[in-house]
Amino acid sequence: MEFVQLQINYADWENPAIKSRECYEVARKYGKPVIIMEPVKGGMLANPPEQVAEVFKKANPDASLASWAIKFAASLDGIITVLSGMSSIEQMDDNISYMKDFTKLSDKEEETIKEAQKVLNTIPLIPCTTCNYCAKVCPMHIGISGSFTAMNYLTLYKDMAAAKHQEEWLVGGHGLKKASECIKCGQCEKACPQHIEIRKELERVAQALGD
Ligand code: SF4
Ligand code: SF4
Repeated sequence: MEFVQLQINYADWENPAIKSRECYEVARKYGKPVIIMEPVKGGMLANPPEQVAEVFKKANPDASLASWAIKFAASLDGIITVLSGMSSIEQMDDNISYMKDFTKLSDKEEETIKEAQKVLNTIPLIPCTTCNYCAKVCPMHIGISGSFTAMNYLTLYKDMAAAKHQEEWLVGGHGLKKASECIKCGQCEKACPQHIEIRKELERVAQALGD
């Protein structure tokens, strides 16, 4: 293997379902160069939760919110390239402005990222690691982890379209059933290592996403 391509961004650095940091550390341990994908988390970090945006705007009102995300990724050691999708000339101009003569994040900027991560961690999410042990025992084939991923998108980014898209892809797209079809048998909760109250959370998902 000549390189590894990893999903790395400041929001998923410690995310138990993505494990950006752990994957990166394994690649580094074996001396494998890294290509980074999803540095802006599919555009989500160009418009992060308000509390997070405030941290960045306070630190540097002129820097775009996407620039913090891309610079975080590009500042790591052992990186070949950072793949960042751009969908307008403005986004490309912004990207070029800080990547052309790239300088890594300063110590102060690193502190700002850490503060943003701390603020992100205070937003209450469903602590699902997408291990899918629950899926093995669910008699209704409910897309439990996909529903939770969608719900976490909604909680974090208040973006209903993105949450619905996640649900469509991770639940229906994988031939699974929506949260509202849960018959509340409780089998899944016995299998969940995170001790999530799955039935209650599925009810919340069904309500929030209008299943
Ligand atoms: S409680 Fe719902 S989600 Fe859990 S196993 Fe039963 S049907 Fe599946
Ligand atoms: S068992 Fe628990 S942590 Fe694992 S996917 Fe299901 S809900 Fe998530």
